[in-house]
Amino acid sequence: MSMRDYDFMLTEDQIDLRNLVADFAQNQVKPICREAEKTATVPEDLVKTAYEMGLHLVTVPEEYGGLGLDCISYAVVREELARGDSGFASRVFGFGFEPLKLAGTEEQKKWAADLMVQGGVLAFGLTESTGSDAGSMKTTARKVGDDYVINGGKTFITNGDCADIITIFAVTDKEKGTKGGITAFLLPKDTPGFTVGEHEDKMGIRCVHTNSLFFDEMVLNKKYMLGEEGQGYKIAMQILDNSRPCTAASAVGVAQAALDEAVAYAKDRVVFGKAIWKHEGIGFLLADMEMRTQAARQMVWGACKCADAGIVNKKLVCSAKCYAGDTAMYVTQNAVQVLGGNGYSREYPVEKLMRDAKIYQIFEGTNQIQRMIISGQLCH
Ligand SMILES: Cc1cc2nc3c(=O)[nH]c(=O)nc-3n(C[C@H](O)[C@H](O)[C@H](O)COP(=O)(O)OP(=O)(O)OC[C@H]3O[C@@H](n4cnc5c(N)ncnc54)[C@H](O)[C@@H]3O)c2cc1C
Repeated sequence: MSMRDYDFMLTEDQIDLRNLVADFAQNQVKPICREAEKTATVPEDLVKTAYEMGLHLVTVPEEYGGLGLDCISYAVVREELARGDSGFASRVFGFGFEPLKLAGTEEQKKWAADLMVQGGVLAFGLTESTGSDAGSMKTTARKVGDDYVINGGKTFITNGDCADIITIFAVTDKEKGTKGGITAFLLPKDTPGFTVGEHEDKMGIRCVHTNSLFFDEMVLNKKYMLGEEGQGYKIAMQILDNSRPCTAASAVGVAQAALDEAVAYAKDRVVFGKAIWKHEGIGFLLADMEMRTQAARQMVWGACKCADAGIVNKKLVCSAKCYAGDTAMYVTQNAVQVLGGNGYSREYPVEKLMRDAKIYQIFEGTNQIQRMIISGQLCH
């Protein structure tokens, strides 16, 4: 595997792991997912291979049986797997161990980590009908003795149909709202009163499923509460601060995959007597695609380095997420343009990449919401 431009910024271990994942992503994930996404099928045999490589354990600390990677190593690995297929990367990594790391008790951490080591999946259930205004959620948790009775539901939950534990959020005190009125819970999949809807028929990232969740008089003992009662909204925002840089790394992977396709095509395709990259309109477009992809990667790595240093910097996190999402869209859209009619055809992979890219401007807070947070950080 050849060296890459920014390898001087990585350790030998990070480069070795990246190369291992690159080999898997390009030789197995990319061809298999290209077929599987047509029918929105999750290629479970391939998931098994990824698990055998330990990829689902990157965020689990070593003392709980995981790989205990830092944020930047995770971003490097995640970009590479997403370069093969970004929906598949979401299926494999799920929402990771972050909620437990942030707010779990020792007992909860051991429980969740043991499940993950055995191949279990963790998901994150914040969104419901109130959408971006998550603080106005309608799901309620009523305290009855040592239990909470939960009613309501969630929409668009990644891995909703295969998750073993889902971190959910519910209103425990309507008056207090986001300031002490929302509580987080760890929901085990076999809880009575909990049902999962059919997966959405999505535009992109079709190798991971997205489902609605329904809670009907669902009883959870207080031992499943994550953090303290009333701290749920704060915990949700902290989880997103942690997850956004690595989700952004997936967006960089999609951009890089589209750039690879566009460059290969532009070198090969001859029109008006020369390869199309030699026509300045295409050559300069490729240069812009390359520059934006590099910039997005550096912003992601910057946000990760910041997190690894123990610093919470929402401006860097949201900038990385927003810029990487916009870059994935910019690069994939232009890759379709570089391939002309072939770009628009399902015979070539760039239309899939364009469909996959769009989600990075929408989930984990839309890019409008990221801009709201960034401007708030600048001006408050
Ligand atoms: C494939 C997929 C996977 C997902 N996975 C998960 C998951 O695992 N867990 C989870 O909890 N959620 C998940 N989501 C939900 C996702 O985070 C939400 O869709 C997203 O936060 C936006 O909410 P909404 O769709 O209701 O849009 P809305 O909130 O209705 O927004 C509609 C439009 O209005 C804009 N808008 C809203 N408010 C403002 C404002 N104040 N200023 C300017 N513009 C604004 C938005 O940016 C958007 O363009 C997923 C969604 C999808 C599609």
